[in-house]
Order: sequence, then structure tokens, then C-alpha cells
Amino acid sequence: GEVIVTDNLWKTYVMGDQQVHALRGVDLRIRRNEYVAIMGPSGSGKSTLMNLIGCLDSPSYGRYWLNEHDVSQLDDDQLARIRNKEIGFVFQTFNLLARATSLHNVELPLIYNGTPAAERIERAKEVLTQVGLESRMDHKPNELSGGQRQRVAIARALVNRPSIILADEPTGNLDSKTSVEIMALFDDLHAKGNTIVLVTHEPDIAEFAHRVISIRDGSVASDHPSSRARG
Ligand code: ADP
Ligand code: ADP
Repeated sequence: GEVIVTDNLWKTYVMGDQQVHALRGVDLRIRRNEYVAIMGPSGSGKSTLMNLIGCLDSPSYGRYWLNEHDVSQLDDDQLARIRNKEIGFVFQTFNLLARATSLHNVELPLIYNGTPAAERIERAKEVLTQVGLESRMDHKPNELSGGQRQRVAIARALVNRPSIILADEPTGNLDSKTSVEIMALFDDLHAKGNTIVLVTHEPDIAEFAHRVISIRDGSVASDHPSSRARG
């Protein structure tokens, strides 16, 4: 099935009497278990597109179907509920709670949706083990390396079994060795059946995906298999 379908997606920001067309008619189809990188220079519209795909914002015009449900006209509360259930976010800056352990950080999305405590802990431990942090569950972020912090964030993204993992510059704060380790983890998650959308301005990182979509001036400029997928 198709997880993401967009039809003529536009986003226009209005500031006073100025208008910025950040997206100008984007058509996308992303199937279950695809591994896609969205590339483009600064200002091309990547973040805007990621915010729409991630149900953080609504389009000015056009349609977006997430798992075959039209989510283009929902209000903020409806979007928030869908976002919590369907999207696992991974950010450049990790966005972890500094005072909370790995386990607690990973439990948070489950607290938000009312999962009972015993099940929360079991599922948080399961995904922390999956990302290789079984021995770091009681550590706080400042007791972890950058790569370990990003693994906690990835575990948090996985814990609700989302239909999309949406990663925005996930290696932007990591050294090159650690970046490769994190990209290997995404490979592993892809092999386990996850659908991954990676937003990056770095061609080397985009090449880890199997399909590369380039955005220029708010439009899709190219869409092709990565050289890795071509073999
Ligand atoms: P990228 O992520 O590729 O750098 P963005 O989606 O952030 O691109 O930005 C696309 C365009 O939209 C840019 O011209 C940017 O200045 C503009 N833009 C982004 N967010 C806003 C906003 N909240 N208000 C006004 N203009 C914005
Ligand atoms: P990685 O290769 O995963 O980035 P590092 O080589 O940076 O890991 O760190 C090695 C070990 O040092 C890790 O097991 C981690 O727990 C520990 N460590 C790293 N940074 C810190 C820190 N700021 N405080 C405490 N322990 C740390």
C-alpha cells in the first residue's frame, strides 16, 4: 500500500503583505517499506514538506493522504493525534528531556496516549534493546555520547510502531564515524519493514536511502533510485 500520497501540495507563508510560496505543487507517492531521502539546498522547502508529511502543519492548497486517509483539512487536535500514532520523529538536536533517563524519554509517547505503565516499560525496553542501548536504559542524556543520544531518540520514534519514521538531518550533530553507525541503524530498521523518510542537505547521507527526491524552489526537481539502490 501507499503510506504517503500528495496531490498538488502548496504551502504559502504570509508575512504582512509578503507571500512566500515554500511549496509549489508537490506530487509524491511513497509506498510502505520505502527508504526515501528528501534532498535540497537551504530554503528549497524541505522543512516545510517535512512539516506537512509529519502532520505538524496543513497545506495551503492540495491534498495529503496518509495511509489512505485525507489529512489535509484536519484541525490541530486531530493532527496531533494522528502524528502521535503514525509518525516517529528523529531530529538533528535529539530533543530529549535532559532530566529524564533513556527509559523515561522513550516512554513519553506512550504516556501521552495512555498506555498502562507495565506495557510502557516493556515496550520502551524492547526498542532500547533494538537500538543497542540495553545497558544504557537508566542513563540521562548528559551521560551518553551523541550517537547514544540519537539512538535514544530513534527508540522513542519507534515505540509507537509508527507507519513512518521521519528523520530531519539525523546526523547533523554527529561526527562522521558516528553518522555511519546511525545510518547503519536506519538500514537495520528498513530491513525490518519500516518506512523511512530522511530529510537532508548532505548528498553522502542521502545516498544511504534507496530513493532520492530533490526539491528545488518548492518543487520536485528529480526523483530517482540512489546509486546504492542501482547497485
Ligand atoms: P529548507 O528546509 O529547505 O531550508 P524551508 O521549508 O525552511 O526550506 O523554507 C522554504 C521557504 O519558505 C524559504 O524561502 C523560507 O524562508 C520560507 N519559510 C519557511 N518557513 C517560514 C515561515 N514560518 N514563515 C515565512 N516564511 C517561511
Ligand atoms: P560513541 O562511539 O557511541 O559515540 P563514545 O566513544 O563517544 O561513544 O563514548 C564511549 C563511552 O563513553 C560510551 O559508552 C558512553 O557511555 C561514554 N560517554 C560518552 N560521553 C559521555 C559523557 N558526556 N558523560 C559520560 N559518559 C560518556
